[in-house]
Amino acid sequence: MNLNIDGKNENTFDAIVIGSGISGGWAAKELSEKGLKTLVLERGRDVKHNVDYPTTNMKPWEFPHHNQLPLDVVKENPIVSKCYAFKEDAQHFFVKDKEHPYVQEKPFDWIRGYQVGGKSLLWARQTQRWSDFDFEGPARDGFAVDWPIRYKDIDAWYSYVEKFAGISGNKDGLAELPDGEFLPPMEMTKVETYFRDKVAAKYKDRHVIIGRCAHITEVKPIYTEQGRVKCQHRDLCQRGCPFGGYFSSNASTIPWALKTGNMTLRPHAVVHSIIYDEQKGKAVGVRVIDSETKEATEFFARIIFVNAAALNTNLILLNSTSSRFPNGLGNDSGLLGKYVAFHNYRARVSASYDGLGNFTKSGNRPNGCYIPRFRNVRKQETDFLRGYAAGLYTSRWPQRSYEGMGEDLKANLLSPTLGPWHVSSHMMGETIPKEASTVSLDTNLKDAWGIPQLKINMDYDANDDKMVKDYLEQLTEMFTDAGFANIQTHDSHQAPGLDIHEMGGVRMGHDPKTSLLNKWNQLHACKNVFVTDGACMTSTSTQNPSLTYMALTARAVDYAVKQMNAKEL
Ligand SMILES: Cc1cc2nc3c(=O)[nH]c(=O)nc-3n(C[C@H](O)[C@H](O)[C@H](O)COP(=O)(O)OP(=O)(O)OC[C@H]3O[C@@H](n4cnc5c(N)ncnc54)[C@H](O)[C@@H]3O)c2cc1C
Ligand code: SF4
Repeated sequence: MNLNIDGKNENTFDAIVIGSGISGGWAAKELSEKGLKTLVLERGRDVKHNVDYPTTNMKPWEFPHHNQLPLDVVKENPIVSKCYAFKEDAQHFFVKDKEHPYVQEKPFDWIRGYQVGGKSLLWARQTQRWSDFDFEGPARDGFAVDWPIRYKDIDAWYSYVEKFAGISGNKDGLAELPDGEFLPPMEMTKVETYFRDKVAAKYKDRHVIIGRCAHITEVKPIYTEQGRVKCQHRDLCQRGCPFGGYFSSNASTIPWALKTGNMTLRPHAVVHSIIYDEQKGKAVGVRVIDSETKEATEFFARIIFVNAAALNTNLILLNSTSSRFPNGLGNDSGLLGKYVAFHNYRARVSASYDGLGNFTKSGNRPNGCYIPRFRNVRKQETDFLRGYAAGLYTSRWPQRSYEGMGEDLKANLLSPTLGPWHVSSHMMGETIPKEASTVSLDTNLKDAWGIPQLKINMDYDANDDKMVKDYLEQLTEMFTDAGFANIQTHDSHQAPGLDIHEMGGVRMGHDPKTSLLNKWNQLHACKNVFVTDGACMTSTSTQNPSLTYMALTARAVDYAVKQMNAKEL
């Protein structure tokens, strides 16, 4: 019998949110704004906006290693050092390889950020909506299971989160990439508009547009109220932005939730598992291990939002066993941890362009251009399923001669010339979730907090290889038509993971026999637990996923609170 009634009351809330990254920040904001006493459990340390951004104002010469990582750091971190943003200025926001090991049944580069704000401090802020071509994909092409929602179910929620987060973009009127509530778009360079026009002249279905990104490009009261101002185009976002120019949980949703007086933030709280009460037939709380002291505590609430990022959410649910759910919470179908997938970022094409030599670009633009998916959109037209989007970026750098000695060298260094334009593109391919692609628990290997390590088992398949080939061919053709020179194609064959868009394992669906979550992101078999991060994704589309996690989260909170008010939860 638990006689510590005061202790239990102190640890009891209306809602618990696990994780404070992009999706957890949204859950925290929405729940506490709706008046629920909300506990946010975050395994990492606190990172306060503008207080805990140690490198944000550092000049290049103030970094001991000029923003490069010393070789011993790279050697100690063969996985995370593959991520382009793991540099001296942002390394403190990444999980180092030894800090939270996992088992690679197949090679997988798991890139993580454990702190208040999660990866929202590190993301590249590209934010595109999905369309019905994405939501209808599995049903049309016969893979995975049908999504239980369509674009009309989420359209208003995209608008809702976009207005608060601040999304810059152009209204392009494309059915495959619905427009949003955009702030003014960033500017395209001369070469980008030239390429856009060349592509439009030849292909009706291919579009080169400015990227849609979570940066404030116009002052509005909703941003001022958050203490955020216009993006200054410093392009140093991964250090944490002193202006709140880009959307992060730290600058936006978490302080907003705190201001309601309803949110309690508990950093250093590693969620071990969710407690299921057999008598009540629902989840009643979570078990937490303090990351520093290793002390175990329990917290209780009426509803639980699991937002630990896709793979950690799988881990927590798999580790939440009871007599009712011996194989993980809500896992009646046996599919928990299966049908995980990712994005195929293997391929790149680069080139140079000697034309438009009278033009250059001035300043930085923390954004690129985007070519929405054009393969198999309306009908099947290639020998692979689904398709890819492409990023596009152009730049022009001053080139200096390092020839000579003394005065000659000085003169050469002081007279740079502008080189040709550099054009580069990277592929963002959809991958097919498969039953054989899994995450599971290694019961022999435990982490520092006594929790089983995660085993990751996913890989590319023949569909991905065909898609890479097609992307390389098509971009080469488009670059050639535009008169670009020195075209180089590259397939990195990188392991899955570096795309940092892992998804699935707790997928949504109509049928409890073939899915874990219903159309409200609610576990079919344990209705007061909601999963709204990447784990819920039934398929992966080509778009960057985080905007969809935000919209699904706000939508699920709205539903959960209505259900609570109706005493259904
Ligand atoms: C370099 C980089 C570039 C990216 N670019 C883009 C982009 O342009 N567009 C895009 O859409 N996405 C991008 N992403 C991906 C994006 O960051 C993620 O999709 C997004 O952050 C996921 O949100 P989340 O809430 O699921 O997870 P996160 O933001 O990772 O937050 C999860 C939180 O849960 C915490 N947590 C984990 N386990 C536990 C536990 N057991 N107990 C308590 N807390 C726990 C973590 O510490 C973390 O704070 C990028 C990521 C990186 C790193
Ligand atoms: S580019 Fe904009 S968002 Fe990024 S750090 Fe600079 S001001 Fe902030």
